Amino acid sequence: MALISVILPAYNEEENIHRAAERLSAVLAPERVDWELVFVNDGSRDRTWEKISEIAEENPHITGVRFSRNFGKEAAIMAGLACARGDCCVVMDCDLQHPPETVVEMLHLWQEGYEVVEGIKRSRGTESKLHALFAGTFYRIMSSATKIDMSRASDFKLMDRKAVDAILSLPEKNAFFRALSSWVGFRTTTVEFDVQEREAGTSKWSTRSLTGYAVRNIASFSSAPLQFITGFGGITLLLAMVMGIQTLIRYFSGNAVEGFTTVILLILLIGSMLMLSLGIIGYYLARIYEELKNRPRYLISEIISSRNNSEAGSGLFLDKRSQGG
Ligand code: UDP
Ligand code: MG
Repeated sequence: MALISVILPAYNEEENIHRAAERLSAVLAPERVDWELVFVNDGSRDRTWEKISEIAEENPHITGVRFSRNFGKEAAIMAGLACARGDCCVVMDCDLQHPPETVVEMLHLWQEGYEVVEGIKRSRGTESKLHALFAGTFYRIMSSATKIDMSRASDFKLMDRKAVDAILSLPEKNAFFRALSSWVGFRTTTVEFDVQEREAGTSKWSTRSLTGYAVRNIASFSSAPLQFITGFGGITLLLAMVMGIQTLIRYFSGNAVEGFTTVILLILLIGSMLMLSLGIIGYYLARIYEELKNRPRYLISEIISSRNNSEAGSGLFLDKRSQGG
């Protein structure tokens, strides 16, 4: 019988673990598939891990993975995918904003032969105007960088084993999961879902972390900001020629003493543009340095699983790939 793995990254979600496990087992049990839930505790500061280990110990369908600290949702997704053994994997939030019923819909599409099923937001849920504006801008940039319409994309997706292995085999540490699942290709389809209200707890995203996330993802999928510098250099070169000719004409016509204001303005303009450009280049450099260090995406401190696989037990687990396994 086919095995479906559901991966649920969890960061400070103590109130949602039980609920998510219950709702998911209720919808998956009647299906003609074997199933497992992989909860990845992303270094929560509350009792999330206690909740996960409780249910993982009594329920053989549930696996708990514990990070040594908070590594972020992308890392948690990657760890979940690496530990999952399913013939297909579903990634969803464990705050139940992604409806469990949609998982069944995705499963049926997979059984029909689709290899990647993308969850598309029918509505964007409740968001403030400012948030919607920033999200809109980010997705426009990302869409043009990835050539995929990302405006309603989410992290809620089902992937066949083939696609999962393809994603796990990518060497980059700074992966943007939402775009990667389309990047790998395969027979893809979409299902629409309504973003639900959060069952309990609060969103983990602050404006600052969202901005950082947006910038990082743009940089990881596009080098457009670098080309922007070149473009700007071209424009300043044109301006320089115009100004140069004007200055020469003035010099030969004998009134070259004026123009001090122009000099100040030019120095200020060029100076700030140079520094901004250096900043952009420096940002890419930092990203390259980060990738070059080749540190694992996450560190696992504990895994609770009834399945007797090589990852079970306790100890320090590195990213599967860096173990060479
Ligand atoms: N999450 C995580 N690590 C983090 C932040 C969030 O694993 O550092 C998980 C979180 O537990 C939830 C999912 O990612 O299951 C989505 O987070 P959240 O609900 O805060 O984001 P939103 O739904 O507001 O976009
Ligand atoms: Mg949420």
